[in-house]
Amino acid sequence: GESVDIASAVAYLASDQASFYSRVESSYLIITGSSSGIGAATALLLAKSGANVVITGRNADNVSKICEECTKLSPKGVKALPVVADVTKEADLDRLLDTTIKTFGKLDILVNNSGIGSFSQISDAEYLKTQRSVFDTNLNSVIYLTHKSIQYLEKTKGNIINISSIAGIQSGKGMSGYAMSKAALDMFTKCIAVDLGSKGIRVNSVNPGAVRTNIMRDMPVPDEQRKGMWDAMGSKYPVGRCGEGVDIANAVAYLASAQASFVTGTILVADGGHLAANVNLGFD
Ligand code: NDP
Repeated sequence: GESVDIASAVAYLASDQASFYSRVESSYLIITGSSSGIGAATALLLAKSGANVVITGRNADNVSKICEECTKLSPKGVKALPVVADVTKEADLDRLLDTTIKTFGKLDILVNNSGIGSFSQISDAEYLKTQRSVFDTNLNSVIYLTHKSIQYLEKTKGNIINISSIAGIQSGKGMSGYAMSKAALDMFTKCIAVDLGSKGIRVNSVNPGAVRTNIMRDMPVPDEQRKGMWDAMGSKYPVGRCGEGVDIANAVAYLASAQASFVTGTILVADGGHLAANVNLGFD
């Protein structure tokens, strides 16, 4: 390259921007569904790096437990902000955002993570009800909260990370409701990255493979197979294991940071090689 390229790289490396996960360290974040699983792991990681986090979910006990852990991990003992809210209720999402802005004064990063799984076939009696509730939780809540957050993210030149799934890319038996919600979420991510680029807001997605959290509790696995289920699934993965919350938290931290300054509209797959190996986890 030309010497100007090297000069700009040297200037960057000499600046504060080049510190580990810069911007995340002092940022103000909402992570929906941070009362457990991937959202909680993300909140803990970012709190440990110095971020100010809002912990939210419906389960008040879990929300306050994760808040306490975040505060303990925070290098300056920054208090995490608890907001008990149901993302399927617009009034709750309004309260979540209002409380955040009243307390923190700003919003740098929105992680749309809350979600529910579903295994239901089109011929099932409960299919329509299940599919509507999956769309309300996994997609409509994200659209609403994103729309309402833009005014704040524009001020901070912030960014949005949606937690999708490899189910949005790979079809499977009984997966239509969940998979449609995540495929639609991926297209939402890409389209609004285009819409919001001129406002200085980046929008990206992390699409995990199987991660050991509560969401997999409702999988249609026979009881006798449940005990060794994670090892059995993990053995099908090229990396030889299923994911942990922190595997996904690391991907979120990268996308949220200044190190990802040129990354927008991206679907970052973090799946232990699931899609590359065309793994079938065999849910029936
Ligand atoms: P968990 O069940 O552990 O976490 C789900 C989170 O979403 C909880 O904090 C829960 O909070 C919250 N939530 C669910 N419904 C609502 C609601 N109506 N209102 C408010 N909060 C809600 O599962 P994961 O951590 O695995 O799930 C996180 C995300 O990761 C989801 O979007 C999921 O689709 C995605 N994902 C997970 C994979 C996996 O294998 N685990 C694979 C691919 C994607 P509370 O119960 O307190 O309401």
